[in-house]
Amino acid sequence: MSQTVLILGGGVGGLVAANELRKALPKEHGIVLVEREASFVFAPSFLWLMTGGRTAGQISRPLARLEKKGIELVRGEIERIDADKREAVVNGRALAADFLVIALGAELAPETVPGLAQAGHDFYTLAGAEALRDALARFVGGKLVVLTAAPAYKCPAAPYEAAMLLEYHCRKRNIRERTQIDLYAAEPGPMGVAGPEISKAVRQMVETKGIMYHPEHQVKEADAEARVLKFASGAQAPFDLLAFVPPHRAPRVVSEAGLVGGSGWVAVDRQTMETTHERVYALGDIVSVPLKLGKPLPKAGVFAQAEAEVVAKNIARAITGKGKPAAFDGEGECPSRTSQGTIRRAATGSTQEGPPR
Ligand SMILES: Cc1cc2nc3c(=O)[nH]c(=O)nc-3n(C[C@H](O)[C@H](O)[C@H](O)COP(=O)(O)OP(=O)(O)OC[C@H]3O[C@@H](n4cnc5c(N)ncnc54)[C@H](O)[C@@H]3O)c2cc1C
Repeated sequence: MSQTVLILGGGVGGLVAANELRKALPKEHGIVLVEREASFVFAPSFLWLMTGGRTAGQISRPLARLEKKGIELVRGEIERIDADKREAVVNGRALAADFLVIALGAELAPETVPGLAQAGHDFYTLAGAEALRDALARFVGGKLVVLTAAPAYKCPAAPYEAAMLLEYHCRKRNIRERTQIDLYAAEPGPMGVAGPEISKAVRQMVETKGIMYHPEHQVKEADAEARVLKFASGAQAPFDLLAFVPPHRAPRVVSEAGLVGGSGWVAVDRQTMETTHERVYALGDIVSVPLKLGKPLPKAGVFAQAEAEVVAKNIARAITGKGKPAAFDGEGECPSRTSQGTIRRAATGSTQEGPPR
């Protein structure tokens, strides 16, 4: 009997799941992917786009290409999810399936910090990175501030990489001597989940470039007019140009479906990514996977991809009866570009620790 897999979200995890399932499943089984956007945009390249190294066209691909591969694409906003029924409502239409995969990522919520969206530009969205690129082109020197507005965010390396790329950009434009660069972080140090050695090494890399690093600074308000950040401690930081990572949260539609646990994210089996609902899986930024160290697995595309491969294998096996069971092992690493021609690698996953069984 033919079966249908419904995949919610056409980002990294959703696309990998759809492609892997299409390869593994005979044609009679349907794969339906729902996504609000017309194109997939490769978020890691926002950092290069903001400094002029990429255009939007270079980092985007139309999702309509999925149709040629035999994956049905439904464009629209997911309005409701019913996990018990394995059903989602899109553009007022209910789509039901035998297997449901939720890969809706993390929602960005700059509005939770008063004034933040008005005061600067985020580099976590295409629109934000483009606005920052344009603001950088007008920037002739002054106080450049990079800010993480909450201690946990996807790709723990990104703000550090961004600060170093911005520093390089200022040198290239001969405005470095007139520019003070400060990185205010809500977290206690860079990439804590990678362990103290990597954290120390990244901090050193940042500081060697003359970037002033201020950890444990939780922003509580931004004054766009006075161009000042106000922190919970009472400290303040003036800026001429502000580049920030917004706070993250689970998408509303997932919270309203009652799928979000105490961590603020969807709880899943650490090896199979199955939720507590039968034949309902969640993967990527939307989930929380605790590690042995006590910290959660970082939100990163490398993990969304690996989780999606595991989910696809296990769903294909459940449908066809073929193949071995697959388990997510929590391994991953994150390449970072700090200036022209420099790539440094830092493990962000848990190769040694692994997710506990
Ligand atoms: C600047 C930056 C740099 C990064 N660098 C790296 C890196 O170097 N290495 C790395 O591994 N990771 C990196 N990441 C993180 C990586 O991009 C994410 O972890 C990854 O995209 C997560 O995949 P996902 O499928 O869970 O979510 P996403 O890729 O965010 O996909 C979620 C999809 O769901 C859609 N969606 C959400 N809600 C709805 C709705 N209601 N209706 C319809 N569609 C909806 C969204 O439009 C989106 O397309 C970086 C991220 C950023 C922002």
